[in-house]
Amino acid sequence: MIHRNTRQKQIILETALRLDHPTATEVYEAVLQKDPGIGRATVFRVLKGYAAEGKLRSVYVPDSGEIFDKTLSPHYHVRCRSCGRVGDVPLQYMDELAARVEAETGMEILSHELSFFGICRDCKAREQTEAKQ
Ligand SMILES: [Zn+2]
Ligand SMILES: [Zn+2]
Repeated sequence: MIHRNTRQKQIILETALRLDHPTATEVYEAVLQKDPGIGRATVFRVLKGYAAEGKLRSVYVPDSGEIFDKTLSPHYHVRCRSCGRVGDVPLQYMDELAARVEAETGMEILSHELSFFGICRDCKAREQTEAKQ
């Protein structure tokens, strides 16, 4: 028999991998449907642990806060201002940008994040439909 904590950790990881750029709260809410006994603090702690182990990538996206990403290599994000959906941007990660910031600030740059904001296709279509009514 698998230890209960191990099973909970597995459910949390599976859920985080299944959802698209979820926040810890979104993982928690989805996990509750599989195991109503899991506490919010447990979900948050386990997610932090997976991020520290490198099984998930913790990224900060303004207005979303911390999200947990299954794509582990550094990349940029786009967030819909209307529905809050976060997606990946197919843009090369710009190491040269970090190098330039390092040269100009004298600070050793360890990482950088870049987020774009807009309206996704679904929201745009919905707005156009609503405008016609
Ligand atoms: Zn949207
Ligand atoms: Zn991503």
